[in-house]
Amino acid sequence: MACSLYNYNMNKNSGTKKLFVISGSSGVGKGTVLKGFLEKHPDFMLSISCTTRKPRSGEVDGVNYFFLTPEEFQDCIDNNKFLEWAEFAGNRYGTKKKYIQQCLAEGKDIILEIDTQGALQVKKQMPEAVLIFICPPSIETLENRLRGRHTEDEATIQKRLNEVKIELERAENFDYKVVNDDLQTAISGLEKIISGEQEKC
Ligand code: 5GP
Repeated sequence: MACSLYNYNMNKNSGTKKLFVISGSSGVGKGTVLKGFLEKHPDFMLSISCTTRKPRSGEVDGVNYFFLTPEEFQDCIDNNKFLEWAEFAGNRYGTKKKYIQQCLAEGKDIILEIDTQGALQVKKQMPEAVLIFICPPSIETLENRLRGRHTEDEATIQKRLNEVKIELERAENFDYKVVNDDLQTAISGLEKIISGEQEKC
């Protein structure tokens, strides 16, 4: 952990790079908002997480996630390889320290798309990291979106909805919130926050 922080501060002192952490409840469309942002700002690096979840149709190992077995994931925990990790809806997700160190050393602005537990762990270690929460316009809208994806079974949907309330509480400790009602408005909201933070460097 100390090593990540050291590299991060080195970059910060050179007045250039920031770490942005984006979280949001399942089905809130944070992936779509981020995709829209990254298409306009290809210079940002999106961190690729590790997970024990099985790939969904169309997901590719090393592109969407590094898909690990539970044993491989546990081995990374035991060897202190994660900057943060969390259990979410029965699966484990984590960000490798090495990946973040490399990106920051290369002078890249980096975005982590992780859950709220992980985001708060990052903030503890890197207080300068900027936490942004993407909110649904309402819980009902969120539930409809989640069901509309047809990617999870009912039990998984229920598990994820139970997480929503807790995530909204954790979001109170975030630096910014962006409501994803209209996609373009959400993307420009994100752009404003990020460019405002970069100007502070
Ligand atoms: P999904 O299974 O839908 O891809 O992701 C489920 C949740 O895990 C999302 O909230 C996503 O942001 C979060 N997640 C993805 N990668 C990471 C990670 O590296 N760390 C943590 N803490 N959460 C992650």
